[in-house]
Amino acid sequence: MAIATKPAPQAIPRIAPREDLNPYRIAQIQFDIAAEHLKLDQGLRQILRASKRVMEVSIPTKMDSGQVKVFTGYRVQHNIARGPAKGGLRYHPNVTLDEVRALAMWMTWKTATVNLPYGGAKGGVICDPKRMSKGELERMTRRFTSEILPIIGPGRDVPAPDVYTDSQTMAWIMDTYSVMVGEATLGVVTGKPISLGGSLGRSDATARGCLFAVEEACKLKRINLRGATVAIQGFGNAGSAAARLFAEKKARILAISDSRGGVFNSRGIDPLKAMRYKERSGTVVGMPGTSRISNDDLLTLKCDILIPAALENVITLNNAELIKARIVAEAANGPTTPHADEVLARKGVLLVPDILANAGGVTVSYFEWAQDLQGYFWTEGEVNLRLETVIKRAFHEVHETTRKHHTHMRTGAYILSVGRVADATLVRGLYP
Ligand code: GLU
Repeated sequence: MAIATKPAPQAIPRIAPREDLNPYRIAQIQFDIAAEHLKLDQGLRQILRASKRVMEVSIPTKMDSGQVKVFTGYRVQHNIARGPAKGGLRYHPNVTLDEVRALAMWMTWKTATVNLPYGGAKGGVICDPKRMSKGELERMTRRFTSEILPIIGPGRDVPAPDVYTDSQTMAWIMDTYSVMVGEATLGVVTGKPISLGGSLGRSDATARGCLFAVEEACKLKRINLRGATVAIQGFGNAGSAAARLFAEKKARILAISDSRGGVFNSRGIDPLKAMRYKERSGTVVGMPGTSRISNDDLLTLKCDILIPAALENVITLNNAELIKARIVAEAANGPTTPHADEVLARKGVLLVPDILANAGGVTVSYFEWAQDLQGYFWTEGEVNLRLETVIKRAFHEVHETTRKHHTHMRTGAYILSVGRVADATLVRGLYP
């Protein structure tokens, strides 16, 4: 199983003419494109394309009404060639197994892009956390933890927050795991509260990593971040922190949005005011001093930097041609389809792919895990400085690979990361 690096352009798989929005098939198309560039052996492709381990569990939970409700949850470990599986846990009504499989695969490439000693995993529970009480969420989380307990652990698989889970969720997982194995185990999850072995800088890490990547992208595009215009789709953990950090760099936040819609102000939105407003009203919609804008219109706004920071498949063949941003930085996982990638590249839009643009989260998760295992904690300054080093180095490695292979940054990042995982797989060899 030798790995060559010369591309064979005619052999690059053609993307199906009608767009398929199944995230797992999209993840496999992205992988296949890189595998062709790397001329990977067919057997090795089969190994890297498959999920190493898939667990589906039913989670009986006592609701506040006294009734029992059974939720379905998943944990998928895509690959563990370079280290323990790593990746978040998502609570959302639209979670599917294929989505979790895709997200797990993206984690493998993400940890390899920034060169962390991890594989990739993801978990999800089909539920509507906005309609559940804290007690219901706690009971569901603890039972889910006990169901997946045999396959997680600091050296096996380390969950973290993702969509609609947070540091409190991680504290419940850490506690349940520790009680069940009989010892305090800080390193079983990351994204924990600071009081429980969490790392300083973790809560802003996804957004801060995105900022570092965009700073490098701005140099390539000759854009001055000071005064640059920014539109952010999604105002959760990543989106709201990105708005704050970009505003601190004196960029102008033209528009922000959440699941209920968006708001716009050509003179700029104050992210701190928006956060306070959302805390009170549950949405940014209706914020004083702004006009209303739909999520669709926000994506096609004329701006320098567009940051999709919510869910998958928001930039597709339907709107890619209409995107007017000069840089698209994917704070979300999987927001752009392979068809849309090609359209953006043709238009000269610089897309910083998810596995690089949002890798700041898992990078500081890695720092947290390393601190937990050492029992020795770093200052916030140290965390942010090391994060900057990791993201900027990865940006330049991806950019260099992109240039060498005459492609766009998504495929460049895939060639770099798939190549690293392939190398690890080959040097480990096959058991038995
Ligand atoms: N859920 C985040 C992601 O998609 C963080 C994963 C982690 O920290 O392990 O990258």
